[in-house]
Order: sequence, then C-alpha cells, then structure tokens
Amino acid sequence: MNEKGLSEREIFSYLKNAKSEDTDYYRVFSSMCTRPHKIAVEANRLFIEANLGDLGLFTGARRLEQEVIRMLGKLLHAPSINAPSGDLCESSVCGYLTTGGTESNIQAVRGMKNLVTAERKGFKGTLNIVIPESAHFSFDKIANMMGIEVRRASLDSEFKVDLASVENLINANTIGLVGIAGNTEFGQVDPIDKLSEIALENELFLHVDAAFGGFVIPFLEKPQPFDFRVPRVSSIAIDPHKMGLSTIPSGALLFRSSSFLDSLKVSTPYLSTKAQFTLTGTRNGASAAATCAVMKYLGYEGYRKNVQYCMQLTSKMVSEARKIGLEPLIEPVMNVIALKVPNPDLVREQLLKRFGWNVSITRTPRALRLVLMPHNNPEDIELFLQDLEKVVAEI
Ligand code: PLP
Repeated sequence: MNEKGLSEREIFSYLKNAKSEDTDYYRVFSSMCTRPHKIAVEANRLFIEANLGDLGLFTGARRLEQEVIRMLGKLLHAPSINAPSGDLCESSVCGYLTTGGTESNIQAVRGMKNLVTAERKGFKGTLNIVIPESAHFSFDKIANMMGIEVRRASLDSEFKVDLASVENLINANTIGLVGIAGNTEFGQVDPIDKLSEIALENELFLHVDAAFGGFVIPFLEKPQPFDFRVPRVSSIAIDPHKMGLSTIPSGALLFRSSSFLDSLKVSTPYLSTKAQFTLTGTRNGASAAATCAVMKYLGYEGYRKNVQYCMQLTSKMVSEARKIGLEPLIEPVMNVIALKVPNPDLVREQLLKRFGWNVSITRTPRALRLVLMPHNNPEDIELFLQDLEKVVAEI
C-alpha cells in the first residue's frame, strides 16, 4: 500500500490489467464453476454489504438464506422438521449456506463427531469415517484438521465405491460413511441406497457430497437415488456456485435433523443473536441473495434446460471423440467425461501451450478430464477435438 492513495482511473486500469489475465471461462473444460447467471450477479450487487454472521442486523438477507434452504430442501426431499433449533433452523428444513463443498463437508463430519462423542463417551482410539477413494480432496483437510482417521474404500470398475470394501473398513470406531453423488473426476454417483443399508446396519451417519451433482441429478432423465428420500442420509452438501449458476462463494449444507445444527452451536455473546452454528463467522449475504434470485428465476424448468444443454454437449464430445478413436473410461453419468488418451499429462500440457485449452487429469487411472459446463458450446467442442486429434497424433 502507498502512503498516498491512487486515483480511481489508476485503480481501474490496474484491475483491468489483472482481469485480462483471467480466462473468463474461455476454452475452459476443467472447471466445475461457470459464469454466474446475470440475475445472480445483480442480486449479489444489491446485497453486497449484508453480513450473515450477524443475523439480527440483516434480517432481509437472512430471510433469503432461509428461503434458499427451504427451496433446496424441497429439491432434495428433506423431511419437514418441527423447527426451531435456532436461527438457522427456523424454516421447516435445517441447514445453512456455506462457502462451498469444502466447508459443507467439514461441517457435516464435525456434526457427526460432536453428536457421537456426546452420546457415546466410551470411545478409545481415533474415530474414523469411511469415504470412497474418489472423494474430493476436502476430506484430506478433514483428516488433517479434525483428528479423525479418513479411511478410503476402493472403487469398482465403474468408479463407484465398492460396497465390500466399505464394509471391510468399518470398525468399532467408525462414526459415519460418505457417498459422492457426482464425483469430481468421473461424475459418477455412488450407490447411496446401498450405503444407506450399510449405515443402518452399523448405526452410522451417512453424508452425501452432492456439491456438483446436487444441481444435476434431479434434472436428469433417469435420476439415481441420492437425496433425503434414501432413509439413512443424514446430511447433503450441494453447491449453488457450481451447476446452480450462482455467484462464488455459494455452498449449502442440509441436515435431516436439527440435532446436527445443535451439535455445531457456539454462543455469540456480543452479537445480535445468541448462537452461531456456522464454520465461518462473517458470512456473505450477497451470495444468499444471488442464489435465491437465480433459483426463483430459473425454477425447475430453467435448471432442467441447463442440465439438458450440458448433457447434449457431453454426448457430442463423446460421440465425436469416438470418431477420432478416443473412448471414455465410462459412459458419462453426468456432464463429466474421463477420456482415455495416450500420455494424458503431455496431452494436457500441449493443449494448453499450443491452443489455450484448459483440461485436467484424473488421478487413477490417468485420463483427460473434461467438464461440460454452460459456458461451453458445440463449436468449441469441434475446435477442441481437431486440436486434440493433432496433439494425440504427434505423441
Ligand atoms: N465435493 C465435490 C464432489 C467437488 O467436486 C468439489 C469441488 O469441485 C468439492 C466438494 C469442493 O467444493 P469447493 O471447492 O466449493 O469447496
């Protein structure tokens, strides 16, 4: 910072310069986020100063947050509860808006841990959760920060979690299972109904990470069971800032029962409300407004069209890749493709260096990972495949 401030003109020229380095999602096939809907952007601007960390001062923004939770509860078939556990549980559905999938996953596991340790004091040794190997790296952070062992179950040939492996990893210190509804690398959905049976038999919680799939699966032609209709599902993470077309940061965490929120409670003596259940303190009210606005604007019909568009792009990418001899690892379940190519790391590097395409790579096995988002279009798919064909031919 300088002693004397810069002029407005200097600031904006500095900012424009920085902005020109951003991709603006041009030639991006690697992101699960996208350009926010214009309605979300406008709503965000309107509530830019709202702080959901101090709910009593921003009752309007808070009402919008509750409305989002209510709408998400309906989308995910959350059972109505006889509220009120507190400020974040006033609507008939329990949950709150987070900064994204990472925070939602952290809080879901923290809730499990708090509930279990409050009920059963006699645990010896480290508590654990069992997650699929395909889980997002936010679970590495959970392992690191929460003193919980994160046990990773192997995947079957379709990249769904292997149920026998899950059962083998459960022991007396297991407190919960995690299933992924739309995993980051393959877009695959774990058998949530089967995980629910295992969770029921072993009296475990079941968290579903639908950070990406939550705004996709309900709008597919044949949705797989993944939400609160599956009996043992205790919490769900769903991100409006991914396929929900809201502004960043917009995540959400929903609970089946208010006891989860209660277990996360800390008292906030000098704020306008008595307690807080959230991980972060000061929270973005603008995101709540953005998510509320875009959900109300698009409705089920708008999101269905959005998913249909992305699935059409996905089919086009796969069928035209096949014409140049490239096969996906699995038939895409949603708008994520893992494409088998020789030497994927080199292909990725060349695509970026020579043609400016941003793609990513799956961990095991290594394949080209492509996410087909609303910012992509059919013309780009054709150009991309021409460039991919050239790169592959030269390797
Ligand atoms: N869970 C899944 C399945 C994801 O795909 C991601 C991100 O891509 C996350 C969690 C983490 O979300 P965020 O980056 O918004 O914290």
